[in-house]
Parts: sequence; structure tokens; C-alpha cells
Amino acid sequence: MSFELPALKYAHDALEPHIDARTMEIHHGKHHAGYTNKLNAAIVGSALDGKSIEEILSSLDMSNKAVRNNGGGFYNHRLFWEVMSPNGGGTPSGELGAAIDDSFGSFDAFKEKFSTAAGSQFGSGWAWLCVHPGGKLEVCATPNQDNPLMPGVGCGGTPILGLDVWEHAYYLHYQNRRPDYVSAFYNVINWEEVGNRYDSNK
Ligand code: MN
Repeated sequence: MSFELPALKYAHDALEPHIDARTMEIHHGKHHAGYTNKLNAAIVGSALDGKSIEEILSSLDMSNKAVRNNGGGFYNHRLFWEVMSPNGGGTPSGELGAAIDDSFGSFDAFKEKFSTAAGSQFGSGWAWLCVHPGGKLEVCATPNQDNPLMPGVGCGGTPILGLDVWEHAYYLHYQNRRPDYVSAFYNVINWEEVGNRYDSNK
């Protein structure tokens, strides 16, 4: 069994002006495709072949750099495309909205914490919103293509929202202005999808 690059559910230009079409083309068609192909090459014929990506990452030998980098890259980008939508933005409702208020005090307090995590991740990495069993939420960041499913990365739970802060995610449009890209991300977050992921993993 090999992993496949998932198709985007919206056009490359659908997230403009917040995320530009050229960035989406390269990011999905080159970067994510590359992680997917290299993950498949790294696991073919090994004991990991046939396992789900969640199984692979949650029991990962972190010294296996090929699977760590490319398995993380495959999983992280698949989540990233799903939690964005041309009809995104606004605020979360339902149980997720209540859990954000419980965990952070308010939606604005959550945004400040998430933006700080995204802005202060030195170099390449990701900012996350994760849910723990019982429903408690956590915001954190990880370097490179690490993610909270992996052992010992300093944050845990199941990621339900992720923001890619590698320069390849924003440099064409925003150059060095990562804070502007992070601010724009809130306009495309698919809170319905994030809420569904909260409900399924709490
Ligand atoms: Mn990326």
C-alpha cells in the first residue's frame, strides 16, 4: 500500500487574496507531492508498509529521519488543506467554540496564543491546536515537519488545526512578513471541519 497525494477540494486560486494561487500550486503539487513520494520510498518493503500514517507517526523511531520528515510532511499538509476553505473564517461554534472559551478564556485569547506560537517558531515548522482525551485544548508549535502525534516533541494530543510556517508556505506573496500571513490565515480557517475533528477526537 502506498500513500497518495490527496486532491485539493478547492481551486488553487480559491483562497486568494489570503493565500495566492502560485503558492498553492507549488505547495501542493511540488512540496506535498514530494513528501508523499519520499514517504512511500522510505517505507516500501519495511515493517511500516501497510500501516496508517497515524500508526506510523505515533510509534515513530525519531532517529528515522526519512519517515520523520516525509511522514510528517505527508500528514501535516493533508490536514492543512482540509482545515482551510474559501468559505472559511469567522469563529468556531458548538462544542469546539465552548472548549476554546474553557481552555483559553476567549476566542481572541486563543488567536493571540496561536499567532504567538506561529510567529515565534524559529525557522521552519508548524503551529497547532490539539485536543486531548476529555476535550482539553492545547496550542503549541513544532520544528520542521514534526507534529504532536510523534513521541517526545513537547506537545501532544490530536492536531485539529495546523498552520504551516515554512517560508515555502508564504514567501512568494508575503516575503518576510510572516505575521501578515498568520493574520490572513484566520480568514480561511474552516471551523466546521476543525469542529468535526474536535468532536471525533475529544
Ligand atoms: Mn509546507
